Amino acid sequence: MKKHNFSAGPCILPQEVMKKASEAIIELDGIGLSLIEISHRSKEFVEIMESARSLALELLGLEGKGYKALYLQGGASLEFLMVAYNLLENKAGYINTGTWSSKAIKEAKLLGDIVEIASSKDKNFNYIPKGFVVPNELDFLHLTSNNTIFGTQIKEFPTTSVPLVCDMSSDIFSRQLDFSKFDLIYAGAQKNMGPAGTTLVVVKEDLLGEVTRQIPSMLDYQVHISKDSMFNTPAVFAVYVSMLTLQWLKDLGGIAAIEEINDKKANLIYSEIDLNPLFTGYAKKEDRSSMNATFNLTDNALKETFDNMWKDAGISGLNGHRSVGGYRASMYNALPLDSVGVLVDIMSDLERKG
Ligand SMILES: *Cc1c(COP(=O)(O)O)cnc(C)c1O
Repeated sequence: MKKHNFSAGPCILPQEVMKKASEAIIELDGIGLSLIEISHRSKEFVEIMESARSLALELLGLEGKGYKALYLQGGASLEFLMVAYNLLENKAGYINTGTWSSKAIKEAKLLGDIVEIASSKDKNFNYIPKGFVVPNELDFLHLTSNNTIFGTQIKEFPTTSVPLVCDMSSDIFSRQLDFSKFDLIYAGAQKNMGPAGTTLVVVKEDLLGEVTRQIPSMLDYQVHISKDSMFNTPAVFAVYVSMLTLQWLKDLGGIAAIEEINDKKANLIYSEIDLNPLFTGYAKKEDRSSMNATFNLTDNALKETFDNMWKDAGISGLNGHRSVGGYRASMYNALPLDSVGVLVDIMSDLERKG
């Protein structure tokens, strides 16, 4: 039986995407060859790469606005470094909202002066800092839109004249935003748009070429742009499945349509967390993520009973990250509302029994 997959990443993908992807491993679109045994320079794969790139820009509403989409390797973790290589000349600002922001700061510090403009470390990252002032002289301001581990999400982005760089690994394509406010967006595919192995980078081209350092070719966004994201062999399978997932999203009605479903899922779980006395939410209410809901039992003696109940119901991937404990329900785009319904029923069953 197919499980209800609440995994934080790699995570659930649409069933129809999985089916098409598995078929393409045997034979891609009737060409007599597998997707993974053809040249990345073949007409077939070049078309896949081009539609993956244009679908990303189209869904984000960034077509014709000076942006390029790239599918790179090395995960979001390599972007922590690449962003600094390509954009950091003097000083950059970071908002530290969790484990991933902290890692981004650590890498950028290798290349220049980094200021932590605000941080929520004082409360183990259970909220999003607000009301901070962004100095004008920064090369860029780096944000993490959704904090996968702690379950917080930025709802209001700072208004500033400084270029905005955002790690959107765990909520890209999940909610409507004015994406043109950002100058560079990156996201590891495996959270909300595909399998592990590729990272989407969407960058405003005129931001590049300003730093004085020598950039190694593989770390240079301009090199990847000039080669249409094919400077070296791309992760063909991951790009193909990301393309299928973006096509699935487009057919569904795009980000506006999925946001409505995502809001329903988030409302369902958070109202149960708030109404059920056996559970307590981890993140500050106003900063709660619609992608990753983090929560705890109020009485740990119920842990074994609760764990057995959700496992028996076919739920998978609900354990919290080791740095937070408790539970984390990751509700990415492909997770059906019904799966959240199953979880919420178990939570209220526990209350009835308890
Ligand atoms: C998972 C995650 C990362 C790390 O992604 P990798 O592709 O494994 O390097 C970075 N940022 C955020 C917000 C994440 O959720």
